[in-house]
Amino acid sequence: MSEALQQFLKKNVTALREHGLYNEIDTVETPNGPVIKMNGKEQINLSSNNYLGLATDERLKEAAITAVKEWGVGAGAVRTINGTLTLHDKLEETLAHFKGTEAAISFQSGFNCNMAAISAVMNKHDAILSDELNHASIIDGCRLSRATIIRYNHSDMDDLRKKAKEAKESGNYSKIMIITDGVFSMDGDIAKLSDIMEIAKEFDLITYVDDAHGSGVLGKGAGTVKHFGLEKEIDFQIGTLSKAIGVVGGYVAGKKLVVDWLKVSSRPFLFSTAVTPADAAAATQAIEVLMESTELCERLWENARYLQDGLRSLGFDVGKSETPITPCIIGEEKTTQQFSRRLFEEGIYAKSIVFPTVPKGTGRVRNMPTAVHTKAMLDRAIAVYEKVGKELGVI
Ligand code: PMP
Repeated sequence: MSEALQQFLKKNVTALREHGLYNEIDTVETPNGPVIKMNGKEQINLSSNNYLGLATDERLKEAAITAVKEWGVGAGAVRTINGTLTLHDKLEETLAHFKGTEAAISFQSGFNCNMAAISAVMNKHDAILSDELNHASIIDGCRLSRATIIRYNHSDMDDLRKKAKEAKESGNYSKIMIITDGVFSMDGDIAKLSDIMEIAKEFDLITYVDDAHGSGVLGKGAGTVKHFGLEKEIDFQIGTLSKAIGVVGGYVAGKKLVVDWLKVSSRPFLFSTAVTPADAAAATQAIEVLMESTELCERLWENARYLQDGLRSLGFDVGKSETPITPCIIGEEKTTQQFSRRLFEEGIYAKSIVFPTVPKGTGRVRNMPTAVHTKAMLDRAIAVYEKVGKELGVI
């Protein structure tokens, strides 16, 4: 190893460890359901994005097994050579139907979907108005595009309008895009899409919504855009197939012309092998499950309200969540981390999230209830929260 690399790694890894900021990765020893085993110990799992329990659903497993038997384990090529299997077409048709759009294009992950889609449409002559709390993949996609990035204060429509007006009136940009998460993953609040759409119309701007945490959750499962009835208006509906859908992959749903362009210009689509037959088939099956019935979605909301009410009635601050994402705001960073560790010792797995992921002094333990938690599991979690909360003087 070169001396320079050695020094670089030593400096950075050692510094992170010294400040207690090196994120040691926890390994899960069982399927990622409502109860998992870690370090040989059972935990009620309040940390996965498997909102509807579909990651371990029998129907999806069957679809994946059948696909493997019929199609093998790999797609064999990138989509634009001969990696587009009937299964990928079917997934995209199903996605478009689900999202209420003319067409859809799928990617290998939500992260690379944002990198792909933003940089395929925006360039150095353009500007992007981006919510300050947007996901890392949006930030990276914006950077990759080389467009001018104008951050607006989180969900502050006055600030957005002012910056949109300035950008438009400057005459400096060929195209201007507003880009936002549909649901913000740290606080669980919903983007103000009706207002955003109004601003976009007023200044003729492109609209781009990353609905990673809204799909399967809002709009009877169809997502945040559907929740606002804007599926014919928002230009880019982005999503992931890895959270409520339970598998892996990302997608853009929108007008056929948008999708046609992405199919010839987005680099991960052109240069990275397509998702496996099992992934495509399982994701398609998941969407079919969601289109057939809203039962899982309703159970998710019921469980989320139960947990949020339970924590709130104990005196915890569960923030301003409007979705199942349930932050329990502890405040000070060290106490937050200690809180999460104590939960773990008591058999509850809920991750602490502290600065710099969230602002200083707003450390929180983030809980992700799902449709497949039982009331007994949630009761146990609430009881442990009470115990640890009293022990650490949080409540
Ligand atoms: N966008 C948002 C808003 C996300 O929360 C995430 C996942 N953390 C992603 C994109 C990336 O999705 P994926 O895990 O499918 O790459």
